[in-house]
Amino acid sequence: MDKSLFPNYTIGPDAYEDIKHVCPTYGKKVAIIGGKRALDAAKDKILKSIEDSSLEVIGVFWYGGECSVENMDMLRPQIAEADMIFAVGGGKAIDTCKVLAHSTNRPFFTFPTIASTCASCTSLGIVYHPDGSLREYSFSKVPPNHIFIDTEIIANAPDTYLWAGMGDTMAKHYECTTSSRGHIPAHSDAMGIALSSMCADPIIRWGKQAMDDCKAHRVTKEFTEVVLGIIISTGFVSNFVQVDYTTGLAHAIYNGFTVIPSVEHNGHLHGEVVSYGILVLLTVDKKFEERDKLFQFSRSIGLPTCLADIDATPDDLPIVAKKALAGIDVRVWPYPVDEQLIIDGIMEMEEYTKAHA
Ligand SMILES: [Zn+2]
Repeated sequence: MDKSLFPNYTIGPDAYEDIKHVCPTYGKKVAIIGGKRALDAAKDKILKSIEDSSLEVIGVFWYGGECSVENMDMLRPQIAEADMIFAVGGGKAIDTCKVLAHSTNRPFFTFPTIASTCASCTSLGIVYHPDGSLREYSFSKVPPNHIFIDTEIIANAPDTYLWAGMGDTMAKHYECTTSSRGHIPAHSDAMGIALSSMCADPIIRWGKQAMDDCKAHRVTKEFTEVVLGIIISTGFVSNFVQVDYTTGLAHAIYNGFTVIPSVEHNGHLHGEVVSYGILVLLTVDKKFEERDKLFQFSRSIGLPTCLADIDATPDDLPIVAKKALAGIDVRVWPYPVDEQLIIDGIMEMEEYTKAHA
């Protein structure tokens, strides 16, 4: 049996006003779980919005700082009485609640407080060991019952989340269209691939204005469009398409750079390095017109366009290329990807960036 469910959402500065219309159908007792900063930003607003509803909050809990099985075990007895879970925060807090909700068969609702990933819209959970290393992907077909996106809270979060989130979002389009090239995808995959253009065009169109708005903590139409791109468009694509299509050469290149100490130590973000990976992807793929467009956009908001921008050098490339191919990212790709292809693509991008300095 194939089964896919897709979440509803409410977005706006007053999105939480919709909680009392949506959630009481699922029961009465609510456990609120989130990150510390996320709870600081959202807790009072959530509590106020349900004051005059039938919902009853049984407790507000910190998720434990890592999306780990250990933290889920710690939370399980605390939420024993709850009918539903409110997941508040960024990727890891949301994923902790998601896997906990799946394993205890509870409805769950997400409250993203930053726009950085599509975690608050997806059914997939990414689980880590307590030391932060990857443990497993927790596959499920059950996304959140509803997403409450308070744009005022997101506009008051640090703009680096939005900045890096845009890079990761755009990758969804370029990776899934390239991965599936030459295939005749079945309905669900085909839906996701078609939708994926919503992960690139609106970001390139409104991303610069959205960054300026986020810096000024302004909720505008452009800002809202970009938040929807990062959370909803990307999440829907993830829910529709198989894992071999949701990742690709840009993420392979990101993985390659994770073993370069200067990149890690200087705190370069996942979506930031992924956005550089897209430029290399488009170079390798000879999609020069698209590459030029993305290059201009990346420049306009300070996303990286060359090795120096992510504190890497050409000497790092043999290690990067080897690590890039160690994962599953380019397992499905329209042509073979080897270490030399990656190195050549990166060096060609270096020349291009230098020529456009
Ligand atoms: Zn990513």
